[in-house]
Amino acid sequence: MADKTKNDDQDTRLSANELQEFRKLLHERRDKILSSAKDALTLTEDDSLRMSDEVDLASAEYDAAFEYRLRDREKHLLKKLEKALKRIDDGEYDECESCGGTITKKRLLARPETTLCIDCKEEQEKVEKMYEKKRPYRQPFEF
Ligand SMILES: [Zn+2]
Repeated sequence: MADKTKNDDQDTRLSANELQEFRKLLHERRDKILSSAKDALTLTEDDSLRMSDEVDLASAEYDAAFEYRLRDREKHLLKKLEKALKRIDDGEYDECESCGGTITKKRLLARPETTLCIDCKEEQEKVEKMYEKKRPYRQPFEF
């Protein structure tokens, strides 16, 4: 049931097979984050055992904060991946969240977790840049 009359390549929706491929890709990315998060956790435990005698509290606290931020970032990406998987289930994976247009396959291959078409993404970045210019001080870390 094609409701779009445009013959443009850009507007071609993904086939069921392609959606399956993306589902696999998203699952792989999710698994990779989960297993590397597990590795990081094991490493932290080892480290805390090793420095149980002479604890450099300041640096230990810094490490913990950094670790926490990192995990926060991973959590954020995980959420995006979960959302993308749900969007596949709902049949709206290649549908732009903002304008309702089609997200191209090329863009989805580059950013499988995206929910915006390239036009809306560029628009969003433009707005973000304007916002940054208004603020004289930039944050040292972008988390
Ligand atoms: Zn859009």
